[in-house]
Amino acid sequence: MITGKTKVVGIFGDPIEHTLSPLMHNAAFKELGLDYCYVPFLVKKQELKEAVEAIRALNIKGVNITVPHKEAVINCLDEISEEAKYIGAVNTILNEQGKLKGFNTDAYGFVKSLKEDNISLKDKFILLLGAGGAAKAVAYGVLKEGANLFIFNRTPSKAYKIKESFSDIGKIEVIEQIKPEIMGKIHIVINATSLGLKKDDPMPLDPSVLKKGQTYIDLIYTKTPLLKEAKNRGCTIIDGIGMLLWQAAKAFEIWTSIPAPVEVMEEVLKKIKD
Ligand code: NDP
Repeated sequence: MITGKTKVVGIFGDPIEHTLSPLMHNAAFKELGLDYCYVPFLVKKQELKEAVEAIRALNIKGVNITVPHKEAVINCLDEISEEAKYIGAVNTILNEQGKLKGFNTDAYGFVKSLKEDNISLKDKFILLLGAGGAAKAVAYGVLKEGANLFIFNRTPSKAYKIKESFSDIGKIEVIEQIKPEIMGKIHIVINATSLGLKKDDPMPLDPSVLKKGQTYIDLIYTKTPLLKEAKNRGCTIIDGIGMLLWQAAKAFEIWTSIPAPVEVMEEVLKKIKD
């Protein structure tokens, strides 16, 4: 029940209709009996600044930030976490008595979801496909865990930019072609491109290079053609639901200072998937 005391949190993005975050967070608040309500806000690019100012004006406790605002929002905040500064993107804002603090929980969400699946990143050779916002968070997370990273992107200049920003935290190389010599030493392939979101998308890499025993991770929530192909070839596969869950759990904790009821949030996502 919404009362005069209910604290409001939410998500800013465009488009926003597809978001699963309200279902996850509202189920979590209900489970713990917390007087919070999570609301989706359609925020157009040109209105981002006003929308962020409204967090203060309307006494909103915090928001998640999604496409296309994760990078632009940085300039609208009072304080940015070390991690978010490095990644260059914010996906969670906390309103602390009028002071707006930005965090990035995507890197944590990605790494934590792999830990939950007992996948270690230390000293692994990883091929990351993509160099957009999600790829940056993944690159930061895996380098911090001690992995060796190769990045391939349609637009190589963006991959080189990531290398430039992150080379002080780990081993990172840009590749402009996915050659068999490189695939031979790769343990984990991560798709952080948006290829696979649409039905007719081509695969983000030529399926003939897939090797039995490798692990394929797709940040997209569904079983993409890449994951299906990898499974057929005897690879371990992981979709993006785990990352979604754990980035949300961390955001929940930033807003409430209470551990998130992860099982309840996971249950919500499972129901949607089935
Ligand atoms: P961005 O728009 O920032 O980046 C998109 C990436 O995909 C770029 O590297 C882009 O390459 C590449 N790309 C797009 N179209 C093509 C194409 N036709 N051929 C080759 N490469 C292409 O998006 P995000 O980084 O925010 O998101 C990427 C994916 O990750 C999305 O599918 C999103 O749903 C998912 N995601 C999942 C999360 C989770 O919690 N599981 C969290 C965040 C994102 P180029 O640089 O050349 O344009």
